[in-house]
Amino acid sequence: MNEKKWIVGNWKLNHGLLETQSFFEFLRTSCQKERFQSLNIGIAPVAPLLSWAVQCSQNSGIQIAAQNVFYQESGAYTGEWSVRHLRDLGVSWAIIGHSERRRYFAETSEQVAWKARACVEGRVMPIVCVGETLADRESGLAESVIESQLKPVLEQVDPSQICLAYEPVWAIGTGKVATSNEIAQMHERIRKLTHPSTPILYGGSIHASNARLVLEIAHVDGVLVGGASLQVDSFLSILNDATQC
Ligand code: PEP
Repeated sequence: MNEKKWIVGNWKLNHGLLETQSFFEFLRTSCQKERFQSLNIGIAPVAPLLSWAVQCSQNSGIQIAAQNVFYQESGAYTGEWSVRHLRDLGVSWAIIGHSERRRYFAETSEQVAWKARACVEGRVMPIVCVGETLADRESGLAESVIESQLKPVLEQVDPSQICLAYEPVWAIGTGKVATSNEIAQMHERIRKLTHPSTPILYGGSIHASNARLVLEIAHVDGVLVGGASLQVDSFLSILNDATQC
């Protein structure tokens, strides 16, 4: 069982220097960090602003997360960065295997597993994303797809050392949230494959109006929020709701 709910905002390729600064300034002035002590809160900005976001978030109680990281520590890998760089900057979490990385950058589940392992070894918490497409679900393959994405990861890392996010691809950025039953079933299945202490987050069109409902489903330990994390007032509203769960 996870006592603290996880609320993680994935900004994707959005927000620059000024928006990042004003987001954290607004959070700091509009609420006391003690109010959210019962939550694990994270924000994942674009990689070039990680250091800036760490500075802006100081004393806010909010962790900064990367949206990706490479599995090698150093070498001839132009354009990549490693877990060591994240740790040096004070970045505590890294989202790994987001469906947009799998889709646009052809990331495989094996690469995701190596990234998760590099994170665990480097003491950065990986938030490993898994999710089926609409075609997978309609063909009755949702569970087997999730299992095949998870298998290589669970061969590389101890599940008690990672965080997972179930994000049905068809629910991301579409306004279509999975039903409570679909979420409950998949989270129960993932729980059986992992560890009682593995946080399992749901992601896919979470907004201020549905976060609480989803957070109350069994085995949902938090939410990964894309679009609704960009506006500080909708993110705050999700945080407030999460404190009631
Ligand atoms: C995401 O990018 O992980 C996500 C869940 O996006 P959205 O909330 O916009 O669907």
